[in-house]
Amino acid sequence: MQALEQKILNEGIVLSDHVLKVDSFLNHQIDPVLMQQIGQEFAQRFKDCGITKIITIEASGIAPAVMAGLILGVPVIFARKNTSLTLKNDLYQAKVYSFTKQIESTITISNKYLKENDKVLVIDDFLANGQAALGLANLVGQANAEVVGIGIVIEKSFQTGRQLLLDQGYRVESLARLESLNDGKVTFVAAE
Ligand code: 5GP
Repeated sequence: MQALEQKILNEGIVLSDHVLKVDSFLNHQIDPVLMQQIGQEFAQRFKDCGITKIITIEASGIAPAVMAGLILGVPVIFARKNTSLTLKNDLYQAKVYSFTKQIESTITISNKYLKENDKVLVIDDFLANGQAALGLANLVGQANAEVVGIGIVIEKSFQTGRQLLLDQGYRVESLARLESLNDGKVTFVAAE
């Protein structure tokens, strides 16, 4: 996705060979116009899949997921990283090892919002080693619903996540695919 790649080149900050900071438009401040374009792109790529729900993870997946949900006309569920007094019973939960925080956390949704006949699109901001996406897919599985695809805003193609998800039979659509962050420089996987 051209506009996203350009934004990454203009505003992304390479923190290391493995971590890209995009706080100016995705992970802290949000660019609503770009998010709308991202939502349109996800909606376009998954339009024939009969999606009934989108699932993402707080906080940074919410903006792109909501934009896709708006265009596809389906509700968006975000998994919580902490339970609360209002999220106590009838839960689906999965453990996820966080790439950026390097800790394991439990993600949670209420079982009210996913049902057996749901066709679910999983959306997340980044794909590194695939643990967040797999955790979300696990929640969908607990509801006996179907994951019809995984939509990623920024995939770091030099990490293991994409292959892991493909090996498990998931369709993965990433809007920007980073080939490398070596030497402080972003390069993209050439379009097929
Ligand atoms: P995974 O679960 O695929 O290993 O990592 C994906 C999750 O880690 C995403 O939800 C995202 O929050 C975070 N993440 C992974 N790599 C990066 C990165 O390079 N930059 C930022 N900002 N977040 C990342």
